[in-house]
Amino acid sequence: LDAGACPDDRVRHGLHRLSACVRKGDTIARTGSDEFAILLENLHDQREVERLCQKILSGLSEPIFVRGEEISVTASIGVSFCSGDVADVAELLRKADNALNRAKKDGRGRFCVFTDALQAASDENLHMESALRRAIVEDALFLCYQPKLCLQTGQVVGAEALLRWRHPRLGVVMPSRFVPLAEECGLIVPIGEWVLRRACQDLRRWQQLGFDDLTVAVNLSTQQFRHGGLGAMVERVLEETETDPNQLVLEITESLLLEDDDNSRSQLDALKAMGVAVYLDDFGTGYSSLSYLKRFPIDGLKIDRSFVNDLPGNPDEEAITRAIIALGRALRLGVIAEGVENRAQLDLLMREGCDAVQGFLFSKPLPFDEFVAALPAG
Ligand code: C2E
Ligand code: MG
Ligand code: MG
Repeated sequence: LDAGACPDDRVRHGLHRLSACVRKGDTIARTGSDEFAILLENLHDQREVERLCQKILSGLSEPIFVRGEEISVTASIGVSFCSGDVADVAELLRKADNALNRAKKDGRGRFCVFTDALQAASDENLHMESALRRAIVEDALFLCYQPKLCLQTGQVVGAEALLRWRHPRLGVVMPSRFVPLAEECGLIVPIGEWVLRRACQDLRRWQQLGFDDLTVAVNLSTQQFRHGGLGAMVERVLEETETDPNQLVLEITESLLLEDDDNSRSQLDALKAMGVAVYLDDFGTGYSSLSYLKRFPIDGLKIDRSFVNDLPGNPDEEAITRAIIALGRALRLGVIAEGVENRAQLDLLMREGCDAVQGFLFSKPLPFDEFVAALPAG
């Protein structure tokens, strides 16, 4: 391949650097717009490849100056091996691609070597994905509700809807197992709409049972913002289910705000304009760039469970918790703590002036009927 003939400066420079890393006689091919394959023959030791990967990654990460402008390139590498004659080149490339996907998911600038375990995990994910597609049509998803208590009154003021999947073989599957998968394959968009609709319908059922003032909180995935049409979807569901927007809370994560693009900003503005409240979930675990608290229309912060977990006694976690509560107060944001499991944690949060709490101390997330049964008679 003639690197000089390549119109894209980044690719050309990348290729130069790649060539500088490999041995004489190795082959580099460009297999896609920004994708290269390197064939290394006569290897004696797998560690040679690992060293080469490191060399490529650090070589590529050096900034490039093109016409006075600094350009940076990062790469991800997938590695697969075969011994002797290559019976099936496509298979070798497919395995390298599989490892490449893993490397990208683990956070760019890495390499990953193909293994049978990796194959098994990716087969399992594929299997889960098709089962999840069926779950949506077969009504195998359901919501549990975890009460939120106001610390001033001690009353249940609302609940967070948490998604569950009743799997025919695995039993109840938790969201940590399937939400990331649903995000990857785009299923989170229809699933997210289903969650919102069901949560709003359940809110109405609480009202019919006499629990008029509860709010319901629904978790949103960053993917739902990226996909677009979120505002219109929320508006439609609110209308269809005749839900008062003031009784809906949407929980988003810091990573969305970090993207700081006009898209998430305008979608959040649209949600705010409808009267829906927006809380920042898992607060403190992300990048904690505080400037976004001013830039984005946020109503409150949810202190992450990992800080509450070590309260009281761990001076760092205590300091962080205090700081988040003080920050919330200064910016006139509501502050709720999640994962409250014992009395000592609760006492500290009360003392510091936290507004609300959620956690196993009061209740685990419960299916609709059990949640209602546990509500104090209105
Ligand atoms: P999250 O929104 O931060 O939810 C809080 C998690 O903490 C829940 O886990 C809840 O069951 C758990 N939890 C609550 N109190 C305690 C406690 O006292 N101790 C401990 N150890 N854990 C407690 P869950 O239900 O497994 O949900 C995990 C995550 O999955 C959620 O974190 C949320 O990010 C995501 N998720 C759940 N439902 C949905 C959904 O409908 N849509 C999206 N996009 N994500 C969802
Ligand atoms: Mg949440
Ligand atoms: Mg959380």
